[in-house]
Amino acid sequence: MNKSKIWLSSPHMGGSERKYVQEAFDTNWVAPLGPNVTGLEQDLEKYLSKGEVAVGVLSSGTAAIHLGLVLLGVTSGDEVICQSMTFSASVNPIFYQGATPVFVDSELDTWNLCPIALEAAIKDRIAKGKKPKAIIAVHLYGVPFQIEAIRAVADAYAIPILEDAAEALGSSYKGKKCGTFGDIGVLSFNGNKIITTSGGGAIVMPTVALKERAIFFATQSRDDAPHYQHSEIGYNYRMSNVCAGIGRGQMEVLDDHVGQRRAMHDFYGAFFNDISAITVFTVPNDDYFANYWLSAILVDPEKANGMTRETIRLALEAENIESRPLWKPMHLQPIFKKYPYYGEKVAETLFENGLCLPSGSNLTEEDRNRIHRVLSQLFGKKG
Ligand SMILES: *Cc1c(COP(=O)(O)O)cnc(C)c1O
Repeated sequence: MNKSKIWLSSPHMGGSERKYVQEAFDTNWVAPLGPNVTGLEQDLEKYLSKGEVAVGVLSSGTAAIHLGLVLLGVTSGDEVICQSMTFSASVNPIFYQGATPVFVDSELDTWNLCPIALEAAIKDRIAKGKKPKAIIAVHLYGVPFQIEAIRAVADAYAIPILEDAAEALGSSYKGKKCGTFGDIGVLSFNGNKIITTSGGGAIVMPTVALKERAIFFATQSRDDAPHYQHSEIGYNYRMSNVCAGIGRGQMEVLDDHVGQRRAMHDFYGAFFNDISAITVFTVPNDDYFANYWLSAILVDPEKANGMTRETIRLALEAENIESRPLWKPMHLQPIFKKYPYYGEKVAETLFENGLCLPSGSNLTEEDRNRIHRVLSQLFGKKG
């Protein structure tokens, strides 16, 4: 096969990343601190809320989730509620703290945390003797979760929200950016995300005081002393100034990337418009603005004449085009299946019938034509 691979989502450089990285070398700021680290944090603060939040950039989104749990006081023996349908990185840090997860189903409008199942879970855990310490809510594929309904439940029981916005930089709800809705927010700049620092993440907090606390933990929890003195457990989670240089360049093209991802979503929307067996995952109403990090489709088995998401995936794969089933829910994962789960089979059914399609901001007209040809053949459309 000599056709080049079309990826689901791959790094997309804007151009000025090299300039910032070069500066890091020229000034010898090749360390987990420096002007790019500070600069990227300021860029993000401005982008997210014109400076009303404090951002700390870290070595990964997973590190940010872990530090978020630390800051929320999650500790050994605690329970933490987590959206079941997500990437495992939303859950693993619960275990780093010696706590355990309680999984909750999704709803069909946003594919994210179901507020009804969430409340049922909280009530039952309290009845069983333990109030959950935090709620991890995710904006899957860049579609915001039901912000108001989830916030109302969380506030009713006074449980903080850790907002996993790893896939949702550039998304917003009623004009407010994702990453700023949680008691603590998390971003990821992994290679496949909407912007990348090759690997990295950020923690978003309401106050500078909390940010100082986060940076304290992220830099080995050093007490104020001339020698190395420690009164708390620390982590080495700070972002490198070299990586932050890539991030500063990427911030200059973030809105372009969002536009290009949304154009891919429009492309699939137009293609599947007259195919009743397929729905393209789309925000429920205009309050929601999605970056459509990944465009995802759902196959209706009753209308698909035996076609499944696997039929589509394999047809694309045969042409060297990557696609992937939706996140397999955490309560179905071998490592997590013994933990409590609340809900029905929404996440499970989405997983069975859903597929993520190539969505990168760097896909070319030729790439789109190749995808169009394969899908046209499969769905019996004139190419
Ligand atoms: C990518 C991702 C993470 C983890 O971010 P990393 O930077 O890869 O550690 C966490 N949660 C979700 C939902 C993600 O998609």
